[in-house]
This record gives sequence, structure tokens and C-alpha cells, in this order.
Amino acid sequence: MIIGVPKEIKVHEYRVGMVPASVSEAVAHGHTVYVETNAGSGIGFSDQDYIDAGAQILPTAVAVFAESDMIVKVKEPQAVERALLREGQILFTYLHLAPDPEQTHDLINSKAVCIAYETVTDDKGRLPLLAPMSEVAGRMSVQAGAFALEKSRGGRGMLLGGVPGVEPANVVIIGGGVVGANAAQVAVGMRANVVILDRNIDVLRSLDAQFDGKVQCVYSTKDAIEKHVLDADLVIGGVLVAGAAAPKLVTAEMVSKMKPGSAIVDVAIDQGGCVETSHPTTHSEPTYIVDDVVHYCVANMPGAVARTSTFALNNATLPYILKLADKGYKAALQEDKHLLHGLNVYRGQVTCREVSESLNLPY
Ligand code: NAD
Repeated sequence: MIIGVPKEIKVHEYRVGMVPASVSEAVAHGHTVYVETNAGSGIGFSDQDYIDAGAQILPTAVAVFAESDMIVKVKEPQAVERALLREGQILFTYLHLAPDPEQTHDLINSKAVCIAYETVTDDKGRLPLLAPMSEVAGRMSVQAGAFALEKSRGGRGMLLGGVPGVEPANVVIIGGGVVGANAAQVAVGMRANVVILDRNIDVLRSLDAQFDGKVQCVYSTKDAIEKHVLDADLVIGGVLVAGAAAPKLVTAEMVSKMKPGSAIVDVAIDQGGCVETSHPTTHSEPTYIVDDVVHYCVANMPGAVARTSTFALNNATLPYILKLADKGYKAALQEDKHLLHGLNVYRGQVTCREVSESLNLPY
């Protein structure tokens, strides 16, 4: 199969669909890989790195789309890219179609075979191609929170781990899923006092076993959230209710009673945020202050560490890229119901129930 990797064109997107090591694997499986010139330059991969891995460099996205059977990307295709898709061509990338009728209509009209990373499932009902970005955001949330606690950002001037003779900070993590568990790992590693709240008792049990007493696992109720948030130096919001907007678990009133100079990192901001006073921010202006509490609410946190994020994403996507390329999309989708869950639009037809319901389109 011919696989095409265009350079990402969304603003401030430096990730790339395939790193050279993934290209090597695809080439070893007998496939041809076309990479747009400078596709990996934002994260330190030169065209020569790709050539050494066995890719061929093409000068434009137009050429990559025209020559390839399957396009592998990171972000949803922008309008100019959608215009380049053709009937039967495979598109494998993040799509997030439910809130995006314009993109959905263009993909329907393209008659391409559009497989979204974010709806591929695994045997345990998890989303394996979304998890790497939650791992990145979870680990990053502690470093963002540590930064927000510095005086220069309006924080209370507190080092998360303290020093011998000086108390560490209290880190309260709401939601103990992928984001929460990864945040806890880093916060524990930095020697903070860590509390995790979740409303799923199995999640609390497994975190309790994982951290062996180094974190306090608390059942999430309104009262418990209020108690721990008021005691926190740093609150990290990592809740998710699948398919729904994040519940506002930390109210504006609670924020107004938090310690002056404390900080909130609302990772769930991409689902609207779990803190009433949150609104989305960007990497160029990541924080703002409400009631003396520093808020960090960047909706695309992994973009700041594009190199790590690209490798993390590729580790998860490569087996599926190879499966699609080795078997062709028909056999690959028929044999793997989890990959089939990723199919969002098939040759002019929406094939993802949630997308059809959100946009009122036939399914
Ligand atoms: P997850 O499904 O692995 O974990 C979510 C957890 O929230 C679950 O354990 C669930 O039991 C818990 N939860 C639900 N309701 C709760 C409540 N009332 N109180 C306490 N816990 C509750 O999800 P995840 O992969 O960890 O993602 C968490 C959020 O982070 C999602 O909204 C995701 O989209 C977001 N995210 C944001 C970024 C970013 O750049 N801002 C990056 C990655 C993920």
C-alpha cells in the first residue's frame, strides 16, 4: 500500500502522523511511504531522517494526497486538505466530528474511508488511541501546576515537594482515570501530598494498590470535594463522563474560598472543564487569575510537548497503521471490531452513531 504523511497545517501543530521509526516498520512490511517535505521539522526530524528510514519526500501536500492510498495524520483535516481527499482513500487521524458539521459534510462528500483515532476501542472498553494524550496531559498537569504556584504567575510561591524541614504542597486530583493516575505519579515523584477523588470504587481500589499508601484515595462526593479543594495548594481536574460535558464539580464559591495563590489545572477543559471558573486558554497565555486562584486551562496541552506526544501517539497508532496497510481496509475492519469502531464516515455515509446523533445525520 502507499501511505502518505502530510505536514500538519493546523495553527501551532508540530506533531506528525509517522515518525521515521514508524516509516521504517511500514517499509519493512513492503509498503511505500510518501512524506511531505519538512513534515517532521517542528519536532526535530529532517527530510534526510525520513529518507534514511526508507520514505520518499514529496514537495507538497497536494502530491502526497494524490499519490497515496492511505493518509496518516494527527489533527482533523483542514478544509484545504479535505478538498484533496478522494473516493475510497483511507484517512486515519483524530477527527472529533460530533461538534464539527462542516468537516463531517466535507468527509461525506469526499467518499473517503475516514477512521478516527478517538473512537477506536479495546477489549476493556477503553480508547487506546486517546489514552496516550491523556498520559501526556496528566503528567504535564503537575509541571503546569508547579509553574502556576510560582510567584511570577500569581501563585503562593510554593515548591510542590517542599524541602527538608518545610512542608510539601497539597495536590488534589479530581478524577483518577488516565489523566489522574499519571498526574499522581508525577506529584508523588515530586514528593507532594497527594489526594485523588473518584466516584468509581474500582478505580480507587486499583489506585490504592498501585500507589501502596503514597496517595490518599477518596470517594468523590460534593462534601469530600469541597473539603479537599479548600485544603489544596494545587487542584488538578481530570474527570470524564463519556460523551458528556464535564460536570462542574468545583463551584465558583469553592474557588472563592481557596487559599490565595493556590492553583487549578483544569485538564478536562476540552470537555468544558470541571471547575465553574474555568475557561479555555492557549499555550501563549496559559493562565489567568480568579479570586486570587491561578487557573491553567489549556485545551491542547500535549501540543506543548509535541515531540513526546508524537512518539506516544505513534506507539499506539503503528499497529493499526500496519494492519490497515497489510490487509487493506476491508479485511482489517472486518477482522477487528475495535478498529471498526473507529470508522466514522465510509464512502459518503456516517458510520458512527454518536456523530450521526449529534449532527442529525442518517446512520
Ligand atoms: P478517564 O475516563 O480515563 O478518567 C476519568 C475519570 O473521571 C474516571 O475514573 C471517572 O470515574 C472519573 N469521574 C467521573 N465523574 C467523576 C466525579 N463526579 N468525581 C470524581 N471522578 C469522576 O479520562 P481521561 O483520559 O483521564 O481524561 C480526563 C479528561 O482529560 C477528559 O475530559 C479528556 O478529554 C481530558 N484531556 C484533556 C487534555 C488537554 O489537553 N486539556 C488532554 C488529554 C485529555
